[in-house]
Amino acid sequence: MEFATFAQRVAAIEAEPADLEIVTLVTELFEETLETPSLEGVNPGSDAGHGTDSSDDLDTPDTLEIVARFVQGRVFPAWQSRTLDIGPSTCYEAIARAAGTNVRTDDVEARLADIGEIGEVAASYDLGGQQGLGAFGGGSSSDDGTDGTDLTVREVYETLSELAAAEGAGSQDRKVDLLFGLVNRCSSEEARYLARLVLSEMRIGVGEGTVRDAIAEAFDVPGGEVERALQVSNDYGQVARVARDDGLEGLTQLDLAVGRPVQAMLAQAGTVTDALEEWECAAVEWKYDGARIQLHYEPDSDDASETIGVFSRNMEDVTDALPEVVEFAEETLENPVILDGEVVAIDDDGTPLPFQEVLKRFRRKHDVEKAREDVTVRPVFFDCLHADGDDLLEEPLTTRHDRLEAVLRDGDEQSRSPENVDGLSLLWRSDDPEEIESIDAEALEGGHEGIMLKNPESTYSPGRRGKHWRKRKPDVETLDCVVTGAEWGEGRRATFLGTFELSVLAGEAGDELETVGKVATGITDEKLEELTALLEPYITVEEGQEVSLEPEVVFEVGYEEIQTSPTYSSGYALRFPRFVGVRSDKETADADSLERLERLRG
Ligand code: AMP
Repeated sequence: MEFATFAQRVAAIEAEPADLEIVTLVTELFEETLETPSLEGVNPGSDAGHGTDSSDDLDTPDTLEIVARFVQGRVFPAWQSRTLDIGPSTCYEAIARAAGTNVRTDDVEARLADIGEIGEVAASYDLGGQQGLGAFGGGSSSDDGTDGTDLTVREVYETLSELAAAEGAGSQDRKVDLLFGLVNRCSSEEARYLARLVLSEMRIGVGEGTVRDAIAEAFDVPGGEVERALQVSNDYGQVARVARDDGLEGLTQLDLAVGRPVQAMLAQAGTVTDALEEWECAAVEWKYDGARIQLHYEPDSDDASETIGVFSRNMEDVTDALPEVVEFAEETLENPVILDGEVVAIDDDGTPLPFQEVLKRFRRKHDVEKAREDVTVRPVFFDCLHADGDDLLEEPLTTRHDRLEAVLRDGDEQSRSPENVDGLSLLWRSDDPEEIESIDAEALEGGHEGIMLKNPESTYSPGRRGKHWRKRKPDVETLDCVVTGAEWGEGRRATFLGTFELSVLAGEAGDELETVGKVATGITDEKLEELTALLEPYITVEEGQEVSLEPEVVFEVGYEEIQTSPTYSSGYALRFPRFVGVRSDKETADADSLERLERLRG
């Protein structure tokens, strides 16, 4: 397919406002790749010979594959770490050179500042016909400078691949030369989309759903199966080709592959209330304050050597930056797996350090060993997408977690409790808000970010920010309440005060107190001991387990909601109150008032 045809179709897609119509145009574009005669010189016959082309070889995709990626603004499959690795200035320089000897990069930048969009800028020059390194093929744009040239989609792809591969001394010049060679052969319309493609700014309104629907329509396969295939393969090109060559059967055979990262499942913000209402029982995990990783491992076999790949949330290959994770894989794993987790920076005692510390290590390319001396990282895994030949995306979370535990136990089924399984993120199942609060408290105490709430029955949806994973919303506002009463605990906690009655200031002078709830959660045993010592001197009346307290101590509390309630004297109740800390810097008179409570309720 000529690049001019591609550019023309893409221009029509960009101009089309209706989503359904866009799907039709993309479908037609895909179908058109089949009609293209194989005049493209390289790998003849690959476009016409369905099922016979050799595009399993990553470097020789056929035209449909290239077009399916280009139309999404991608040159390479999403899972590949390969990038063009050029800055905007390389592109400006190539455009300037193709625009004529009197045009300099500064002029391109000035036009960009004026017009605001690189495609429009590239199209605004009279390009082509410039001599120079890289202007191979003797190419020049057609006579009128707007219509077709002899540049093909495949040539664009191949030149961009060569550009991506250029490295070492002089590689930036080489990249400019290669890009100049392409731009110099472009018509205005081709240059518009080439510049946008190269700078990842295609933005023609073709999203994932559009490509999915167009593949389904063009090759008569079910959209749901295309979607699944896209999730596991992460490559629109491959899915389009398989749909074309092998239909539904081919698509169902596409599976996860070790070494080919999939998009990470993402979380929404949410509350314990929502989670329990929707699922009745929640899977609760600590939320680690690190960077997301996907670990791919395959032991060596007769045909291949050991594979260890560590990928970021954006599927960048970060293996070399994280030797601790590689060592972990070598020591712990035996069979092929794909694990999802977080890499966390830790201090000498293993206590987590803030996220910023991980960043010092995460994408580092040089001096990794030296950086490792300053900041140590360790992986924690919370999900298992593939183990021992089984794809687990469709399995419920709890099953995947059991597989994860088995993988990390490394054959040791008995002797270690889950807490002692290296690299395993623990999972609790609970329908009890108090228990969930105490897991949260423990997480915070342990230096983690809080908790994640997950639907125990949910499957793994790559790339989706669905409601099955919820990161607990941090409290929007906290309240500073006066502690006016408490109860002695029971059993193990009999010598501690717990369940603290909370009050806010009320009355015209703000010198009265009205109760708003009781907080019993978010407090560890250690903290309870401390709080008992702090409050005991203020006990005024004791009746059974209940005590009244002089209003001297102020607690900061979080909550999920403020509700009206007949239970407390203020007429309001805090829903799911949790202890945040003692405001030792505050006197009773500095606590929050009923008026503020009413304002916060909105
Ligand atoms: P956020 O980055 O605030 O959107 O929170 C979601 C991120 O939390 C995920 O992408 C992970 O990197 C991270 N995370 C930490 N602990 C967990 C966990 N137990 N389960 C899932 N994600 C987690």
